[in-house]
Amino acid sequence: MLNFEFYNPTRIVFGQGRYNDLDRLIPPHARVLVLFGGESARKNGTLDMVYQGLGKRHVESFGGIEPNPTYETLMKAVEQVRANRLDYLLAVGGGSVIDGTKFVAAAVFASGDPWEILLSHGANVKQALPFGTVLTLPATGSEMNSGSVITRSDIKAKLFFTNACVFPQFSLLDPTRSYSLPPRQLANGIVDAYTHVMEQYLTYPVNALVQDRFAEGLLSTLIEIGPRVLANPQDYDLQANFMWTATLALNGLIGAGVPQDWATHMIGHELTALYGLDHAQTLAIVLPAMLNERKADKRVKLMQYAERVWGLKEGSEEARIDAAITRTREFFESLGVQTRLSGYGIDAEAIPPVLKQLESHGMVHLGEHRSVDLDVSRKVLEACL
Ligand code: NAP
Ligand code: FE
Repeated sequence: MLNFEFYNPTRIVFGQGRYNDLDRLIPPHARVLVLFGGESARKNGTLDMVYQGLGKRHVESFGGIEPNPTYETLMKAVEQVRANRLDYLLAVGGGSVIDGTKFVAAAVFASGDPWEILLSHGANVKQALPFGTVLTLPATGSEMNSGSVITRSDIKAKLFFTNACVFPQFSLLDPTRSYSLPPRQLANGIVDAYTHVMEQYLTYPVNALVQDRFAEGLLSTLIEIGPRVLANPQDYDLQANFMWTATLALNGLIGAGVPQDWATHMIGHELTALYGLDHAQTLAIVLPAMLNERKADKRVKLMQYAERVWGLKEGSEEARIDAAITRTREFFESLGVQTRLSGYGIDAEAIPPVLKQLESHGMVHLGEHRSVDLDVSRKVLEACL
């Protein structure tokens, strides 16, 4: 096992209808900004319950945070916080609202241009406003981690930052809040959580036995409940299991003491920034191609994945590995998520701009061995067509 430091201060409050807990979780004299996305949190009643839970505190709202939240929109929230001396943020939504709130929390204290937070990947963040979250979309794990991905529309850049200052203080996980998710978002959430586990599990072995078993448990759970939650989105137990699995997929636990990949995510971010694909759509396209291209690097773990997650025990090593990658692709497709660029009307002309973006963002030594250079990324993207 590799050396590690594990720190996760986010309090999870899990269960149906726990909005009165907000009163205990947020300081009584806090001046609160509630941040949300489009209309979903209002339509499904979540915002009403949140405002009720906040009681008599000074509460302001900031709506309109878009999927793949933009710097341009979020800077307006930063202005509101500064102008009205607000001191506590509450994100109500999915990964985009939560990521956006993390950026606002840190940007309020930035002395220069807050875009530097992204350019430094969070290294220059020294302080952030405290915030909590009310999750409405299981997918990203943002509700229990310190990462955030922000898009700058004018330069089509989608960059991440991470800093311990932006762990949520608490996250309220009410599985009934995701009853209203449309199939596309449910499927996206399953694919995103699955890929988070894969980026931390499917590298090379370091004898991290318990992390491997945790990861395999999360993958198997997603395979088991994914199709069922799509068919029955209002089943409490299915949504509860889905929500907690997605949180555990990226809260630091399974990533402690193991090598991590993240090349699929980094290439995926460029596809979203340039061509507007949903985050999970990019992952469903890139992950199978990445596994296939890097079979040699990942051979031992691919064998373990084939056997333990997909029950593939017969045939040559090569055949089992190929079958495991095929099963992965088929799983994503079975959820209704296309796994080829052509499925989204994107052809080979799209590849050079992606490579150019990767280069300009310094994404030229990706993966657990830092071996995914632009040449490997090109081969992966060609296999995505
Ligand atoms: P999202 O972008 O937050 O939301 C997608 C859509 O789902 C929005 O249109 C939203 O509508 C809708 N929605 C949310 N909750 C709903 C509900 N309960 N009922 C109906 N519709 C609902 O999706 P996401 O997949 O959670 O987040 C994606 C973002 O997170 C990407 O930018 C990705 O790069 C990032 N990400 C972050 C991490 C991390 O660790 N921080 C990890 C992976 C990905 P409204 O706008 O109307 O609410
Ligand atoms: Fe993701």
